[in-house]
Amino acid sequence: MLMRHGRSLEAAEAAVPETRTFTGNRGLEIEEGLIFEIGRPENTGVDLDEPAPFEHRLGSLERQEPSGLPGLSEPETMRHYVRLSRMNYAIDAGIYPLGSCTMKHNPRLNEAMARLSGFADIHPLQPQASVQGALELIAELARWLMVLTGMDAVAMSPRAGAHGEACGMMAIKAAIAAKGEERTRKIVLVPESAHGTNPASAAGAGFEVRPVPARADGTLDPAAVQERLGPDVAAIMLTNPNTCGLFEKDIVEIAALIHEAGAYFYCDGANFNAIMGKTRPGDLGVDAMHINLHKTFSTPHGGGGPGAGPVVLSPRLAAYAPVPFLCREEGGLRLVEQQSEAPGAFGRIAAFHGQMGMFVRAYAYMLSHGADGLRQAAEDAVLNANYVRAGLRDLMSEPFGDRPCMHEVLFDGAWLKPTGLTALDFAKAMIDEGFHPMTIYFPLVAHGAMLIEPTESESKASLDLFIAALRHLAFAARRGETERFAGAPYQAPRERLDETRAARNPILKWTKPGHLKAAHEGRPRAATPFTIT
Ligand SMILES: *Cc1c(COP(=O)(O)O)cnc(C)c1O
Repeated sequence: MLMRHGRSLEAAEAAVPETRTFTGNRGLEIEEGLIFEIGRPENTGVDLDEPAPFEHRLGSLERQEPSGLPGLSEPETMRHYVRLSRMNYAIDAGIYPLGSCTMKHNPRLNEAMARLSGFADIHPLQPQASVQGALELIAELARWLMVLTGMDAVAMSPRAGAHGEACGMMAIKAAIAAKGEERTRKIVLVPESAHGTNPASAAGAGFEVRPVPARADGTLDPAAVQERLGPDVAAIMLTNPNTCGLFEKDIVEIAALIHEAGAYFYCDGANFNAIMGKTRPGDLGVDAMHINLHKTFSTPHGGGGPGAGPVVLSPRLAAYAPVPFLCREEGGLRLVEQQSEAPGAFGRIAAFHGQMGMFVRAYAYMLSHGADGLRQAAEDAVLNANYVRAGLRDLMSEPFGDRPCMHEVLFDGAWLKPTGLTALDFAKAMIDEGFHPMTIYFPLVAHGAMLIEPTESESKASLDLFIAALRHLAFAARRGETERFAGAPYQAPRERLDETRAARNPILKWTKPGHLKAAHEGRPRAATPFTIT
């Protein structure tokens, strides 16, 4: 029996006669309106003297109506944002098992280092002689990224994984143009299990995307690649380990086929955290690969901070890397900013040289772990995913058979089918149990996919509770307790929302009172008694 606050779940449910409260609050979780609903235009947080008479110079541009900005006192403003922040979920609050996203603990040491004023208070346009320490850190981080991946060059400026993919595709395009093949090599092969950013990046760079299906075991068959290769193929984009959490075991053979055909091998390195310190992509034949510092090297992401997606490059592509990049000269480090100094460079992909704060955090993560620690992080990530797999696989179904996974475990919806429930129902019920759901409906190759990535940060106790809660829900689903799932989440600040409608028809603009009703349809569970009319 699962206990909750020392009582059985059934007893806890029986003890709640009425879920609605007068205020709409749920215990100390406070229902909160929009700032425009709770603030009043006539209020102000500060006392300002009436301005002396003055002549404005706005001509006919003077505002004719009040701006309608909400007025709140300082404590009211503070409470508004703190209440909203408490509705957020965060890796600092609990396990965040979103597959493919790698939500791992962000060590506080990294934060302390990123806040050192020599890193935090510098400006990208400062004279380079005055930021040599920061440039040195970028150069050192770049060096370790090349060592870890076995690659020859790295473009540090891309701001995220998808941005790194764009960078890689543009480098490949420049390399093809340099060989005079830009008219013929138009096709990029992308496996069907790929992250959506892969085909988007290839198409964005002007290539035509051709999908490659996986074989029954969830990995790519070299024969399927060979079949599609020809003088019109520019590159393949392959994720390894792939998005099903499986290592592409024929990657070396696939790389050889790609190179034989005169094409380039882009590897999506978002899952590098599973192989870091174990395998070097350079040894596998990769020509370009982005590294999500915000995944593998623990820099915060998902609303917690900007990302960074450096792209490591093989000698076949190094000359086409974008500006700026660092070079070491007699007087110290210098950023090469001009294309005239780097004739092969495809151009510039970002205004400046990168996300300094993320570089510092990633470098701190590397140094504090050391070579053995980084390897152990990868091993523990894989171990944790397999522990979750072992704890659930008798109840939940796996799309590609019964075998160990890498850093994330993929279940599909086949086991739910007889219950009439969907992966979405199951995921929403997890919220009631206090767990952020796993990634669902991705990758698309698994029907009703549920992708769980615990990362190396979770303790055994944390994983045991997670597994126990999912088993409890799985048994409830099998017992036919569908009402527990149908409208879930019931315990969250908002019940089940129409996510499709929210995505297709978002209401992003506050409408004045009186017009509120239409805008609020399908919004909160209970209208707060404080709604301003
Ligand atoms: C996260 C991810 C990306 C995109 O990275 P962003 O930093 O979010 O742009 C691409 N591919 C895979 C497999 C990913 O998991």
